[in-house]
Amino acid sequence: MSPRSLRRLQIFCSLYRLWSKVRFGGGCWEWTGAMGSHNRGSMTILRRRYMPHRVAWLAIGNSLPPGMKVCHRCDNPRCVRPDHLFLGSQADNMRDMSLKGRGRNGFSKDPLHHRPPSRRALTADQVRLVRSRLASGDRRSLIARDLGVSYTVIHMIAHGRHYAEVA
Ligand SMILES: [Zn+2]
Repeated sequence: MSPRSLRRLQIFCSLYRLWSKVRFGGGCWEWTGAMGSHNRGSMTILRRRYMPHRVAWLAIGNSLPPGMKVCHRCDNPRCVRPDHLFLGSQADNMRDMSLKGRGRNGFSKDPLHHRPPSRRALTADQVRLVRSRLASGDRRSLIARDLGVSYTVIHMIAHGRHYAEVA
């Protein structure tokens, strides 16, 4: 077996291992395997460690552009359910964490001071991501699902009627 096909086989087996360690349910699909730092899952593929939710994101054919993070819509770090995940920049992720009261500089957990994140508001980075995905011919429904917004929002961005102020 050539090194290349061996590598492919190992990656294939890793994906099998990923899904075999997930508890499927009606809500979140939780990783039950090894845990790394910050209560995040950890799995080893070809001697390197990866976070299972990122592997799950890529396993179903999504792309992960440099500088982007796979974030949780459901706020459950163990969750690997692809439709609970979305792409965000590092900045989005930090802001999301502080809005949800996680992270070192997060808001107080007091519900009076807790502002739930808006799922409809897109950041400038996300709007740019939408535009580049539209330009590369991605389906609008798919982009909408990945970002957790309605099809209309993507449609309006495509026609320059939403977020026209974002350069
Ligand atoms: Zn979830």
